Amino acid sequence: MTIALIRRGSALLATAALITTAAFVLPSSATPTKDSQTGSPQATARGTGGAVSSVDANASRVGREVLRKGGNATDAAVAMASTLGVTEPYSAGIGGGGYFVHYDAKTGNVETIDGRETAPAAMPNDAFIDPNTGKPFKFTPELVTSGVSVGVPGTLATWQEALNKWGSLSLDKALKPSSELARKGFVVDKTFNGQTADNAKRFAAFPSTSKLYLSSGQPAVVGSVQRNPDLANTLDLIRKHGTKAFYRGAIADEIAKTVQEPPKSADTTLPVPKGFMTAKDIADYAVKDQAATKVNYRGLDVYGMAPSSSGGTTVGESLNILENYRLSGADMARTLHLYLEASALAFADRGAYVGDPAYADVPTKTLLSQKFADSRGCKIDPTKASTKPLAAGALDGDGCSTAAHEEKPDTENVSTTHLSVVDKWGNAVAYTLTIEQTGGSGMVVPGRGFLLNNELTDFTAVYDAKDPNRIQPGKRPRSSMSPTIVTKDGKVKLVVGSPGGSTIITTVLQILVNRFDAGMSLPQAIAAPRASQRNTVSVSAEPEFITMFKDALAPYGHTLVPSGDQFTSAAEIGAAAGIEVDAQGRMTAAAEPVRRGGGTAEVVCPIDQKRNCR
Ligand code: GLU
Repeated sequence: MTIALIRRGSALLATAALITTAAFVLPSSATPTKDSQTGSPQATARGTGGAVSSVDANASRVGREVLRKGGNATDAAVAMASTLGVTEPYSAGIGGGGYFVHYDAKTGNVETIDGRETAPAAMPNDAFIDPNTGKPFKFTPELVTSGVSVGVPGTLATWQEALNKWGSLSLDKALKPSSELARKGFVVDKTFNGQTADNAKRFAAFPSTSKLYLSSGQPAVVGSVQRNPDLANTLDLIRKHGTKAFYRGAIADEIAKTVQEPPKSADTTLPVPKGFMTAKDIADYAVKDQAATKVNYRGLDVYGMAPSSSGGTTVGESLNILENYRLSGADMARTLHLYLEASALAFADRGAYVGDPAYADVPTKTLLSQKFADSRGCKIDPTKASTKPLAAGALDGDGCSTAAHEEKPDTENVSTTHLSVVDKWGNAVAYTLTIEQTGGSGMVVPGRGFLLNNELTDFTAVYDAKDPNRIQPGKRPRSSMSPTIVTKDGKVKLVVGSPGGSTIITTVLQILVNRFDAGMSLPQAIAAPRASQRNTVSVSAEPEFITMFKDALAPYGHTLVPSGDQFTSAAEIGAAAGIEVDAQGRMTAAAEPVRRGGGTAEVVCPIDQKRNCR
C-alpha cells in the first residue's frame, strides 16, 4: 500500500510540476495511470456520439456500450451506477443513496432527483447518545460501524424514477450488465485491495461481510477475480420483479433485521450500536423531485443539487461571491486566495442554514441570490486571509453583519463516487451516489451481497433545536454531494461531480474556477492539485498543492496543512469525473489521471478514429 501511494503521489506531483504559476498551463493530455487491470484505462477521451466519465473502467465501458446501442444519458447513468455498485461496492450501491441531476436537450430543463437516505420513523433525537453513558457515541468506531447510522436506502428508487422520467430502457435491461459482471467477477486493482485492507478490521466483525470481502482471511490480492453471486441474484430479483423486490418483502425484512440486530460475529470487540429501521420505513421510502439550484456565473448557468444537499447552495454562493472579482490563471495565487475565502464564507452559511428543507426552514433562495453574495463579499480582503472560522451572514439583506452561529466539527467521511454522461442528443446526467464512508456501515445484508450505508452519520450528533441538521425521524441528513451541470445559451457545456465528503463542494468549485477563470482545459482542471477551505483555521491541501503554492500563498497568510484523514492512508481530495461539450458538439470526457488509481473516460466515436464509428 505504501509503495502504491508513493507512486500515486509522485505521479500527481509530476502532473503538478508541469503547471507554472505564471501562466498556469498544463499539457493537453495529463498522463493516464490507471492501476486497474480491467477495461481500457484512459483519463481523457475526445469525440462525438456520446461520452461517459467515472472512476472505474468497467462502469465507463458499460455506459459507453449503452450509448453506442442507442440508449440515452439516463439509461447509461443507471447502468453505470449499478456497475459501480459491483466494482466500487465500498463507495456506492443499492444499500445507499445519492443525487441525480438531468439536463433535457429538447426542453433545456434541468431537473433533479433527491434519492438521499432517510432516518427511520422511530429514530429518536438522542439516537447518537450512548444510553449506557449518557454521552455521545464516539464517531469511530461506534457510529461508523453501526445499525443506528444506517439510513433507508434511496438508490434503487432513484434509478427507477430516472428511467420513468427520462430513460428508454427498462430497469431489467439497465441492470443486466451489472448483474452479469457481479456473477462473472472483476479484476481486483490496488484501489480495491487498499480499501479492503483499510476496512479489514470492521469487515471481519461481520461474517456476511468477511465471507464476501475477506474470503481467504485477507483482502483479495491485486489481479485476482472478485465475484459476488449474491449481489447478482439480488439484482436479478429486482430485474424480474422491479423495485418492490427490494422495498417490500424478504429483502426489506432482512435489511431491517440487519439494522436492528447487526449480524456481528460472536468474538468481535466492536460495539456496533443497534438501529431503529423497520420494514415499513423501507416500504415508505420515496425519492423527491427537487428544483435544481441555479446561479449565473460569467454568462454560464450553473445548476446543482438543492437541499437536502448543501452542494448546490454552497457551490452557487461561492461562485456568486467570486463573480465580483476578475480572476485569471496569470495570477493564480490571487485566484486561489479568493477561491479559498469565498468557499469559507459559503461554508459558514452552509453550517448555519442548510438541512433537509422538509424539516428546517432553509433559505435556499437567499443563499443563491447575488445580492446576498455581494454583501458577504465585504468580509473578503483581496490581499489577506480572514480569521477563521467566520460567522454566518445575517439573512436580512445584509450578509455583512453576522448571525450568531456556533461552528460544529466536520465529521463527514470520504468515500462516494460520481459519474457524468452526455448522449448524442445532448442530454446530460451528473450523478453522485454513496454509501457514505468507504465501506459504509461495514455490514453486508446476509446472503444479499450489498453493504448498507452509514449515511446518518451526516446528521449533527448532538441534538440542538437550532441546528438545521439535527436528527429528526424521517429526515434526510445534510449532504455535500454536488453533481453539477453547466449550460451556455441553454445548451449543455459541462458536467462534473466528485466524491470526498465536504471536500466535494470545494473540489467541484475549484474545478469550475480552474476551467472558467484560470484558463485550464477540463482535463487540466481535474488533474490540478487541490486545496479545501471549509471555514476552518487552516486550509487542507494535497501535498502537491502545498509544494506548488506554499510560497505564492504565504503573503496572503493561509496556513496549508496536508490533507488526509484517519480512515484512509490517501491524501487525495476528491476523485472527479466530468465532460465538456464545445459549440460544435464535440465532447471531452475527463476522469482523474491519478487519484483513486485513475478513472476512465470514454466517447462513442473517438475524434481520431477514422473508420466508421461503432
Ligand atoms: N456522506 C457524504 C455526503 O453526503 C458523502 C460521503 C463522501 O463523499 O465521502 O456528502
